[in-house]
Formats: sequence, C-alpha cells, structure tokens
Amino acid sequence: MGLVSAMVLADAGIDVEVFERNATVMEDLRASTFHPPTLDMLAPYGISDVLVESGLKARFTQQRDRRKGLIAEFDLARLEGSTAYPFRLQCEQWKLNLELVKKLEQYPHAKVRFGCAVEAAGQDDTGVTLKVRTLDGLEEVRGDYLIGADGAWSTVRRSLGIEFEGYTYPERFLVVSTEFPFEDQFENLSWVNYISDPEEWCVMLKVPSLWRVLFPTAEQESDERVLSDEFIEARLQGLLPRPERYEVVHRTLYKVHQRVASRFRLGRVMLAGDAAHINNPLGGMGMNGGVHDAFNLTAKLIDVIEGRAPDSLLDQYERQRRTVAIEYINANTARNKQLIEERDEAVRDRIHAELRATAADPQASMAYIRKTSMFDALERARSIA
Ligand SMILES: Cc1cc2nc3c(=O)[nH]c(=O)nc-3n(C[C@H](O)[C@H](O)[C@H](O)COP(=O)(O)OP(=O)(O)OC[C@H]3O[C@@H](n4cnc5c(N)ncnc54)[C@H](O)[C@@H]3O)c2cc1C
Repeated sequence: MGLVSAMVLADAGIDVEVFERNATVMEDLRASTFHPPTLDMLAPYGISDVLVESGLKARFTQQRDRRKGLIAEFDLARLEGSTAYPFRLQCEQWKLNLELVKKLEQYPHAKVRFGCAVEAAGQDDTGVTLKVRTLDGLEEVRGDYLIGADGAWSTVRRSLGIEFEGYTYPERFLVVSTEFPFEDQFENLSWVNYISDPEEWCVMLKVPSLWRVLFPTAEQESDERVLSDEFIEARLQGLLPRPERYEVVHRTLYKVHQRVASRFRLGRVMLAGDAAHINNPLGGMGMNGGVHDAFNLTAKLIDVIEGRAPDSLLDQYERQRRTVAIEYINANTARNKQLIEERDEAVRDRIHAELRATAADPQASMAYIRKTSMFDALERARSIA
C-alpha cells in the first residue's frame, strides 16, 4: 500500500520516498481479487485498464458445497451503472506493484529505493526520522510525514509501540496452484468459488494462467508434511479424483490472523494496509481494504500538506478506516470463515437456504453483491465525520 500511497502523493506534486526491504518487486502469490471500487479508484491513474488487460474478468462468484455442488451464484453485472468495472478482476497483486513502480519512475520527485530495510521510526514536532539499513550501511532519513505500509510485521507500528489487537487462527492456510483446467471438469464453474464442507472446505480462484486452491490445514500437522507432494496430491484428488497426478506449480503455507492496530495515526505517522489491519483471505478484502486506506489517507494528507485543511483531518482517517477495518473487513472475513467451515448439518442447510434465497431475490442479491464488493464499507467510512 506504500506504492499506491506514494503514487497518489507524487501525482499531486508531493515529494515521496519509498523504502522497500526486498531487492525487487516480489512475484509471490497472495492477493488475486480486485473488487470494483478498487479498480474505480486506480482508474484515473491508468492502472486499472492495464490490470484488466492482464487479468480475468469474473462476472460471477459462486457459493458451492463439496457434496451438493452449486448453491448460489451472484452476477456482478448487476453493478453496471455504479462502477466502470462490474466484475471481480482476477489478477495477481504483483502486477499492480510492478505497474506502480513503473508509474512512480515517471515522477522526478518520487524515489523507490529497493534493498532498504527500515529498522526504526521516530518523530518529533517538526518531522519523522527513519533508520534505514542499506547496502552501504545505516542511513538516517528525515521527512514531514510517514506512512507505515510495511505489512503485518510492521517495524513502524512496533517502533511506535502500537498494539496489534486480535488473534491468530490455529490452522494455517495452504495455497496450491496448478495449470489443471478445473473449469472443464466442474459444470458451470466460475472464476471465484467458495466451497463449503464440514471436513475440508476450500476456495478455488482462477488467475490467468493458473487455478489457485486454498485449503485449511490441521494445527497438529507439521509444515513439512502439509507442503509434501503426497499431502497436496491427496487434497487435490479429494477435490476432483482423477487417475493421473496433479502438476503443482506453487505451494505456500500461511499463518492467518484477524488483527487491527489500536491506532492508525500517531502524530505524523499513519499506518495503512496490513500494517494497520490483517484478516483471513476469505472475501479478498485485505489488499482491497489496504488500497482503500491509501486513497482515503492520501486525499487528506494532500489537503493538510497544501494547507487546505488542519492537521486534525488525519484523525478522521483513523476514525473512518479503523472503524471499517473492525466492523466490516474483520467482521465479514471472520464470518465468511465460520460459514464455509460450519459442521452442524442443520446449520449448514440453513446457510445454504439463505444463500439460495438471497441469490433468487433481485434486491437481496444486489445488497449481497454491494456488501461483498466492499461498496458498503466505503459508504460506512464516508458516513463517519
Ligand atoms: C493466501 C492469501 C491470499 C490473499 N488474497 C487476497 C485477495 O484476493 N484480495 C485481497 O484484497 N487481499 C488478499 N490477501 C491479502 C493481501 O495479500 C494483503 O492484504 C496485502 O498484500 C497487503 O498489502 P500491504 O502493502 O499492506 O502489505 P505487504 O503486501 O505485506 O507489503 C509490505 C511491504 O513492505 C516491505 N517491508 C516490510 N517490512 C519492511 C521494512 N522494515 N523496511 C522496508 N520494507 C519493509 C515488504 O517487503 C513488503 O514489500 C491475501 C493474502 C494471502 C496470504
């Protein structure tokens, strides 16, 4: 979210410097779903159309059940008129990051410094100070404001002594990618599928060249076993039995948390993205929520820096985005997990009946789509003074 923030600030003519610990943009497989309002925000910078060209448009999302098949399907084309992008875009997050770096290179007053790890952050009445470890040694950097967008383990958040309140799930999530064309085997499969099961729920997401399948793993299984060929093969055969083995392109194991920072603003320092809030990936709200933080924050920061608004406007960032992180992003992703993993047959039947009724009712379906596409979260933020 550091790159998104930097791009918006640089575009407004503000000097920015981004410090990234890695030597380059990492092409890891994390976020892959862009919700429509996120694309609307990125569109004026010419980024959304580039992402759309290199992604897949998922017009439909599906709620499925391993035993019963398709439960409910939601058509995002209903959003036409309220967004220029009435679909979920399935596109790897690193493509956004690469595009942002390219864009930032065009501004003479913007610097992206790779291989620079922030070791500590501090502030006084006149500015912020960073201690940055570079290849040449330790450097001290001064600035007017600091956005801590350094992920879940944020050094900036720790330096400021801000709590990261919440919990970590005991199970880890295994993400497996394969080129196997599941769409040819499951009838009417969409590009975004949440599949409930009392024993082993999963999520199937398509990105342009791969299917990504996410499984929960039991707490007591070792990392080594969960990442082994046998374990992964058994998961995929359980999903779709076939005589041949599956070819697995990537495998990653994640710890999953539901946490929100106790402060999003402390003086001249603001937190955004995973540094401020982190959640399970069910619903694709982490990166999207982080982009929404970045746009909310930078609009206010530009006004403060250019003298159009008092410094106290930055407190509204905390009020708006922290509330949404708790009430909306955290609450909905936690709920999504409870629904997909429900074990009680009677409760499962009730959940499925509700989903079917929602999909069948045009008004209820629209409300569901607006909520899951994060329009409601943005409206909630706007309602907070
Ligand atoms: C399996 C999985 C699937 C997901 N799918 C989705 C999805 O479909 N949609 C969605 O919205 N979200 C999804 N998410 C969540 C999403 O990946 C994160 O919310 C998002 O990456 C947060 O972005 P960020 O920029 O805040 O943090 P990060 O992506 O973690 O970036 C932080 C950056 O800061 C750098 N950094 C860290 N510490 C330092 C330091 N001390 N000095 C300098 N640099 C530093 C890191 O190297 C990194 O580049 C998923 C997550 C997982 C694990």
